[in-house]
Amino acid sequence: MRTNIPNQPHYSLNEWEIVEEQFEASRNYTNETIFALGNGFLGMRGTFEECYSGPEWSGLEGNYINGFYETERIKYPETAYGYASKSQTMLNVTNGKVIRLMVGDEEFSMLTGSLSEYRRAISFRDGILRRSLLWTSPKGRKVRIEIERVVSLRRRHVAAIRYRVTPLNFRGVIRLISVLDGDVRNQTAVSDPRVGSGLVGRVLAVREAGWDGDLGLLVQETRKSGLILACAMQNRIESGVGYTVTLSQTELRLEAGYEFSAREGQGIQLDKFLAYVTSRECSPDEVAARVKDELRQALKAGVDGIIGEQRRYLEGFWERSDIVIQGDPAIQQGIRFNLFHLLQSVGRDGMSNIAAKGLTGEGYEGHYFWDTETYILPFFLYTTPEISRSLLEYRYHILDKARERARQMSHPKGALFPWRTIDGEECSAYFPAGTAQYHINADIAFAIKRYMEATGDREFLIRYGAEILFETARFWADLGEYIPRKGNRFCINMVTGPDEYSALVNNNCYTNMMARENLEYGYRTACRLRDEASEEYQRIATAIGLGDEEPEVWKAAADRMYIPYDDELGIYLQDDGFLDRVPWDFEHTPPENYPLLLHYHPLVIYRHQVCKQADLIMALFLLSDRFTLEEKRRNYEFYEKVTTHDSSLSTSIFSIVACEIGSYQKAYRYFTSTARLDLDDYTGNTRDGIHAANMAGTWMCLVYGFAGMRVENGTLSFHPYLPEGWEEYRFKLTFQGRLIGVKVNRGGATFELIHGEPIEIVDQGKKIVLE
Ligand code: BGC
Repeated sequence: MRTNIPNQPHYSLNEWEIVEEQFEASRNYTNETIFALGNGFLGMRGTFEECYSGPEWSGLEGNYINGFYETERIKYPETAYGYASKSQTMLNVTNGKVIRLMVGDEEFSMLTGSLSEYRRAISFRDGILRRSLLWTSPKGRKVRIEIERVVSLRRRHVAAIRYRVTPLNFRGVIRLISVLDGDVRNQTAVSDPRVGSGLVGRVLAVREAGWDGDLGLLVQETRKSGLILACAMQNRIESGVGYTVTLSQTELRLEAGYEFSAREGQGIQLDKFLAYVTSRECSPDEVAARVKDELRQALKAGVDGIIGEQRRYLEGFWERSDIVIQGDPAIQQGIRFNLFHLLQSVGRDGMSNIAAKGLTGEGYEGHYFWDTETYILPFFLYTTPEISRSLLEYRYHILDKARERARQMSHPKGALFPWRTIDGEECSAYFPAGTAQYHINADIAFAIKRYMEATGDREFLIRYGAEILFETARFWADLGEYIPRKGNRFCINMVTGPDEYSALVNNNCYTNMMARENLEYGYRTACRLRDEASEEYQRIATAIGLGDEEPEVWKAAADRMYIPYDDELGIYLQDDGFLDRVPWDFEHTPPENYPLLLHYHPLVIYRHQVCKQADLIMALFLLSDRFTLEEKRRNYEFYEKVTTHDSSLSTSIFSIVACEIGSYQKAYRYFTSTARLDLDDYTGNTRDGIHAANMAGTWMCLVYGFAGMRVENGTLSFHPYLPEGWEEYRFKLTFQGRLIGVKVNRGGATFELIHGEPIEIVDQGKKIVLE
């Protein structure tokens, strides 16, 4: 396995904070991701208030709103019927972070003069990004600067900055200029297919800009997606010295300038309040009024009030969601960092979702993938089930578009969810690793099954879930065929499985197994609702024109599903032709040629036995009870040898299955390269944004891997293991209305019912009742 773990972590090993003790311009780009703030709606990269640019500087000023995008026609030099026609790019929006500081005639910049006592930290306890430093200007003026930034988790439209400057050795003029900057643009395409968009230049057009008293307002719109964004700012000053105010504006920029007659030792404080509202939440005519209202309320709460709310919100979050590890501070820090970023990234309004990079960067253009259901959803499901419900509601929200896509793909019935999207339309321009990943349908259905097992939320099932299950089951029934040469088994041809180093194959084992689950669960749900909620069932059936015979058709397809298997090796085949391809020559592949996708044409890769990520191994994990332990061992051994882990979605799954088969050392190794992947920038591209699926993979490694948690027939079971060198780990799970504490140490595992009715669980095969 290849990992390039640095010997020396860049941040001190504080378990509740990420601290940067020294300003290093060369690490800036990556740090902008690490120190990003967000609340699932609004995200701000960790750029500096004073703004840096120029050829010497590398970074990306970025502010994003989940689901706020622009679209462009995709230009294919050679096109074909049914190719995704439009791109969608999460837009880099109005920058409200800017606060410039003039000390006399010198502008504050950490790149000039001299800097000492620098400290920047993000705290997971209160979610505040803090920077403090001493700056001596080139002419010798000395100031202390202290900044706090918050993106409110309670008030999703709101962010605030407290900027405090204290002159230490002079008396004279200090100016603070607080800016709302609408002159923003997205990063343009670069040679890495994982980064960059087709949007060139400025995309947002101005509808309205100006001052209403001391409230600065900028309303902008996209040209093609028809979305409107209103952004507003207001500033409040606290200082013992006199000052004057100047409000000014150009087409795209509003500036509030404050000039102080500063005195040695007298602090000057500017509180900046920002609000963002889009036309996805209210009518276009209302956005301006709404943003002003949000801002007014934020001002009323004040920065202290907002920080207090933030702390209380996070207390609640950690109370349910924390994983405590004793004996390994680096891993502890990595885990909290990951969980914190997941919370910051996840959309919770049923209309947005969680992008592969959260709201921290422009990699993958802000798109939502199967990452949500397969990697991220479990964390929320077992800690904050309401959030997992909104993620699934999002799929319902785009169900009509998925139906349209199915028609376009020649299926008279059912729905096909997009491989990557923001607004529900497929926008993957490369169909072999896009639309062909039909498994996303089954991944969503599987997530609904998990959700139902953990919550029993009937209302969700009837309102949203059942329809998705029926439409996806119908889709599989139409996509597959009974093939005589395969013993009249139900085959699904011409698909791509999770592993993107094989494409357009017949009978991808993972896809077939997951489709079988989808068909079976669709069938069972239909039967159950027909019996127990016939009126609701009829309503759904009528709405989607579901014939009485259809569920039986699903059952038959599930029962006769073709599962590729090689008797000689005793392994499941990743797909029909996997063994017919030559093994990749790993021995002669130089380390700098990884990830392979950046160095070899897809055809070269597809021709070989080589995997980018867990594929069959993913099936071993998700459908754990369908395989014997011996089967798991054999398959693991085979597929591990051919996997490069070029996708960050890989190592967590290998870690979990390694645990299950008792390969604990391997499990631990895979786990360590998962837990701090972004913090230590193992993949070298954290600058483009966090790897959200991998972050959630860390949680899965602990809960499903080390603690061996599974849900089988609605019952929670565990097989706990304590990694060497750890003293203890503990976490809580929300399951079927109970809050359950799990603790594992050298003395064994303890389970505690913290809240709720008694429940039966299974520990290493033994039933126990928690009371
Ligand atoms: C992986 C996909 C994943 C996507 C977004 C790709 O590199 O192969 O499985 O969905 O990244 O995270």
